[in-house]
Amino acid sequence: MLTSVITGGAGFIGSHLADRLIAEGWCVTVVDNLISGRMENIQHLLGRDDFQFIQHDVCEPFEIEGQVDYVFHLASTASPVDFVKHPLETLRVGSYGTENALELALRKGAKFLFSSTSEVYGDPLVHPQPETYWGNVNPIGIRGVYDEAKRYAESLVMAYHRYKGADTRIVRIFNTYGERMRLDDGRVVPNFVCQALRGEPITVYGDGSQTRSFGYVADLVEGIWRLAHTDYHEPVNIGNPEERTILEFAQIIKRLTNSDSPIVFTEFFTPDDPKQRCPDITRARQILGWEPKTSLEEGLRRTIEYFRERV
Ligand code: UDP
Repeated sequence: MLTSVITGGAGFIGSHLADRLIAEGWCVTVVDNLISGRMENIQHLLGRDDFQFIQHDVCEPFEIEGQVDYVFHLASTASPVDFVKHPLETLRVGSYGTENALELALRKGAKFLFSSTSEVYGDPLVHPQPETYWGNVNPIGIRGVYDEAKRYAESLVMAYHRYKGADTRIVRIFNTYGERMRLDDGRVVPNFVCQALRGEPITVYGDGSQTRSFGYVADLVEGIWRLAHTDYHEPVNIGNPEERTILEFAQIIKRLTNSDSPIVFTEFFTPDDPKQRCPDITRARQILGWEPKTSLEEGLRRTIEYFRERV
């Protein structure tokens, strides 16, 4: 039986990955400090023989007893609201946290997968974004704490691979949505869906012409699962290339929730909000034989149901 450690495994994506690994017959140890993760996401796994939860901040070194075959390093804040609230923690988890996770993998002779982000492309000047694009990031901007933490972490992962022989992979995750996002995490999907369900104004930042490409979490987990089984060490984009303006997105959510909420235009939450974002997934297609399977409408319907029960 394969054993894995998921840092950030109580988070939105980490908990879905934990479910998948357990379904595949793996043992899972989740390490999470619950800064943005929640016990609710892994409650159903507690008490199983093949699962354990350790509450720990991965910025501090840690040891796992026994064999570890795979380390999935997902721990990080991911929402602009969270990384503005926890800027230093965000920088530390990308740097110290990534180093501690890599050291664990080296000690155990485990394979390693790092969850990076489309934010490494910053406010991109190339569209759509292939992995070969180096990005356009403002290092001293409000978003820089997240973007640069992830960029540094990628650099660290590649250095551990090149100079210490770590067996690593990097996934660059584009905007992902689905069940278990926090209602109050401040990202566009929870914000718009909760506002629409409550009949409150839907807050479009700016004029809503900025674009994003939204991928459903089950598709992402499938991409991670496939990447985990390759020996490919360069970054791979995982995201759904179905690109929408944020205004269009607000209208879609309004329609799917049958909401009367007005759409209002407000100030941007952060400066340097990327104007366009869309993954070039040629590499994922070629190397993983992967592409998204869930349409935006289908994924949103499931997500809306999840939120409806909690609003
Ligand atoms: N956004 C918005 N209203 C909201 C929350 C977000 O218009 O209530 C916009 C935000 O400005 C950005 C996009 O939606 O252009 C995606 O924001 P999110 O925070 O989900 O993720 P990002 O891709 O910016 O990291």
